[in-house]
Amino acid sequence: MPEQWYSLTGEEVAAVLKTNPHRGLDEREARDRISRFGPNELTRQPPVPLWRIFMEQFKDFMVLILLGATVISGFLGEFLDAATIIIIVIINAILGCIQEYRAERSMEALKQLTAPEARVVREGNEKKIPAATLVPGDVVLLEAGDRVPADLRLIQAVNLEIEESALTGESLPVKKRVEPILEKVTPGDARNMAYQGTVVTRGRGRGIVVATGMATEMGRIAGLIQEAGGEETPLQRRLAQLGRWLVAFCLLICALVVAVGIYRGEPAGQMFLAGVSLAVAAIPEGLPAIVTMALAIGVQRMIRRRAIIRKLPAVETLGCATVICSDKTGTLTQNEMTVRRAIIGQFPVEFTGEGYDPKGEVVTTLSPRSEEFQLFFKIAALCNNALLTRSGVTIGGMFRNLARRESPVWSINGDPTEGALLVMAAKAGFWREELERYEQRVMEIPFDSERKRMSVVYRHNDGTLAAYVKGAPDVILELCTHHYHHGRIIPLTPHQRKEILRQNASMASGALRVLALAWRRLGPKSPEELTEVEVEQNLVFVGLAGMIDPPRPAALSAVQRCRRAGIKVVMITGDHLLTAAAVAREMGILGGQRRIITGQELDQLDDDQLRKVAGEVTVYARVSPRHKLRIVRALKEAGHIVAMTGDGINDAPAIKEADIGIAMGITGTDVTKEASSMVLADDNFTTIVAAIEEGRGIYDNIRKFIRYLLSCNVGEVLVMFFAVLAGLPLPLLPIQILWMNLVTDGLPALALGVDPPDADIMYRLPRHPRESIFAHGLAWRILGSGLTIGMCTLLVFAGVHIFSQGCLELARTMAFNTLVFSQLFFVFTCRSEKHTIWEIGLFSNPHLLMAVLCSISLQLAVTYVPYLQPVFHTVPLNLTHWLLIILISLAPPLLNTFYRHLQLRAREKVMYIKV
Ligand code: ATP
Repeated sequence: MPEQWYSLTGEEVAAVLKTNPHRGLDEREARDRISRFGPNELTRQPPVPLWRIFMEQFKDFMVLILLGATVISGFLGEFLDAATIIIIVIINAILGCIQEYRAERSMEALKQLTAPEARVVREGNEKKIPAATLVPGDVVLLEAGDRVPADLRLIQAVNLEIEESALTGESLPVKKRVEPILEKVTPGDARNMAYQGTVVTRGRGRGIVVATGMATEMGRIAGLIQEAGGEETPLQRRLAQLGRWLVAFCLLICALVVAVGIYRGEPAGQMFLAGVSLAVAAIPEGLPAIVTMALAIGVQRMIRRRAIIRKLPAVETLGCATVICSDKTGTLTQNEMTVRRAIIGQFPVEFTGEGYDPKGEVVTTLSPRSEEFQLFFKIAALCNNALLTRSGVTIGGMFRNLARRESPVWSINGDPTEGALLVMAAKAGFWREELERYEQRVMEIPFDSERKRMSVVYRHNDGTLAAYVKGAPDVILELCTHHYHHGRIIPLTPHQRKEILRQNASMASGALRVLALAWRRLGPKSPEELTEVEVEQNLVFVGLAGMIDPPRPAALSAVQRCRRAGIKVVMITGDHLLTAAAVAREMGILGGQRRIITGQELDQLDDDQLRKVAGEVTVYARVSPRHKLRIVRALKEAGHIVAMTGDGINDAPAIKEADIGIAMGITGTDVTKEASSMVLADDNFTTIVAAIEEGRGIYDNIRKFIRYLLSCNVGEVLVMFFAVLAGLPLPLLPIQILWMNLVTDGLPALALGVDPPDADIMYRLPRHPRESIFAHGLAWRILGSGLTIGMCTLLVFAGVHIFSQGCLELARTMAFNTLVFSQLFFVFTCRSEKHTIWEIGLFSNPHLLMAVLCSISLQLAVTYVPYLQPVFHTVPLNLTHWLLIILISLAPPLLNTFYRHLQLRAREKVMYIKV
């Protein structure tokens, strides 16, 4: 294949690559090519293999000491004990390994979900496909905000500018063109090429894929590019720190237990092994893996609710969000526009019909033969890049009669605002394909949210040029000098300007999005001579089109849920003040003390003033993307945790600055998605609220199993500690300690990680991001529960030891079972900090029930299976023993419930006194 694609013409490139620049490749041919050229991916580092993760489990210092001590005790004759300890350690390592492996794989799967996509033309239809499936010869479409998915030879460039710093280091965007370049150039100078990994900053284009995967320019330097490493969330970092403290603390206590035991005359070897086993059991080594699992499972749950997390820390931050700044169009509303009313010249027009179906009436007293009538619909059809499709097939003018006969599914490919105008024009009988038989587009100045307008220049078959412009009425009116008055073009007087603005305001206050349409004759000129300013001046105003975009039905209740959850909803829109106000009122975002300001007013405020008013403002209208950055900063400075949505390339800085940057999955550009920490698969506001709920739930679950794990570990350490202090024999043997660690810490703790969120989770205020994981009395509760678990076990041990006249095996079996059962009962208490298990339902987390039943069966096995009894030094228990064990094991959860009841009563009393 030729190296210098830039020296060929577009037709030559298409011929070499056996493709059609208009229809693209056939699906079959594309499949053939992918098996020949391979996927369009840069080779990545292979994932860490399972055996490496397994080996990592033995790196833990205490586990190594335990293994060492076990081997020594094995040589000293305790062979059975030593073998069992080693088996338990290996089972533990396997469990840890599975947890870590699954956590890693789910994170890997998440990355796949956010894999880039490309817009291609295949078999004549435009569609989105995963960028990895692109092949040489594919025809790719580009627009502002896209990351170029492969190396392309451009065959169309409309004001196309690409920022190539990823490749050349040059951060200024490069203007692209399509003509062949005959001299030899470097990639940085190949103006008719678009290279993989670079970013489209302006305009749009079309190109033929000439290289994919490692054959691209980026592939050649891929060795230099390092993928970003796995990210830790702040909570994970804090927990790692906490883990180090806990290790030190556990080691100290264990050393103390060993020292006191030896001082009291226990055999040193056994004491040492017991101390090390206790340390292994008490150190919550599974905590980091369980936290990662809880995060990963939570993230999976969010995906089911259509929120895709790109950066793990966002999961935590979501639970702290105090403000959601949301776009209006498409997020709070359906982004399915229909033109309902228009004003052409001075004549009102009404349209009937639903959705994108071009069936409908145009009701007006204006003659369809008048110039302004014809122009109005012509501008709507021509200054437009959307495509009308019927059941997936693009419909132009030629097939319109066919289209009218049936009742098929109509949709829009492209911007819905333009789609609505296209449908409106079709209702009046104006189709772009037919109009283009008489005039052809020679220039386009694309729409962007900053300029709020779009212009095209068409050359008529007679050689004359005309500019057709549409955009926000206030912006367009500024560029107009004339208007139509009963078929004549006359100068615009200030009075008429006011009148047009009044009509605009009247439509906008009915929640309509209004666009103005204008044009001008440019005479016989060459398009190369034209500048943007020249095209967009001295325009003739033709009319206004007002379209509805109904609110999303579920968004209203989502806004109310936010209010109950202490989260403020702010609407940010490029639309007119009155349109924004009408929609915001309908959605319950505006009203009472809440204020609305415009981009223009915002420009008058300095940062200090903005920070002061940001607390009251809930609607920002007629803003540009650059305003969003100021709004985020002001809110953050005022102490808020801000979630901000965005779709266009210009939104990327604000999204990056926000605490939780949210990109739109459907309408969002690659650049915005890359800057975001979360992507909404359905562009829906409701999904943000669902993600916040899940975020709060995940944090709650992490607190739940921290409470469980630490309470149990405190209990285990205290039993041993107090027993040696009281001069009692060791209540548990090393093997029993390790076994207990396996059955209580493993499955039940994991099952807590998937606990469903509390029913009242969206009735609480947002959590402060720097709040300690032990806040709201958790540390005290852990100590209290640990103490109860420890004391109950000690009570059973000491009692049985005394009353059975020194039968140590029975006392140990009783203590062993009491400790395991009290932990397994206690796990249900950890499911909620406010409600009892009866309030939340015993069966609402079946995983936990299964985990506990599984642990109980294992525990019964080591107590009753004759082969296991000598291994675990257990003796069979009778009914009285069990009654005692169950009764005492129920004490920690019951005491906990009683304490909570007292607390609630006290709180109620305080409230009563306040009233
Ligand atoms: P939101 O912020 O609520 O999502 P938006 O981002 O869709 O709104 P913009 O796209 O910035 O808002 O549009 C701002 C204004 O620009 C609109 O009110 C409309 O008047 C005008 N406009 C929108 N789309 C087009 C278009 N395709 N061509 C010309 N003008 C447009």
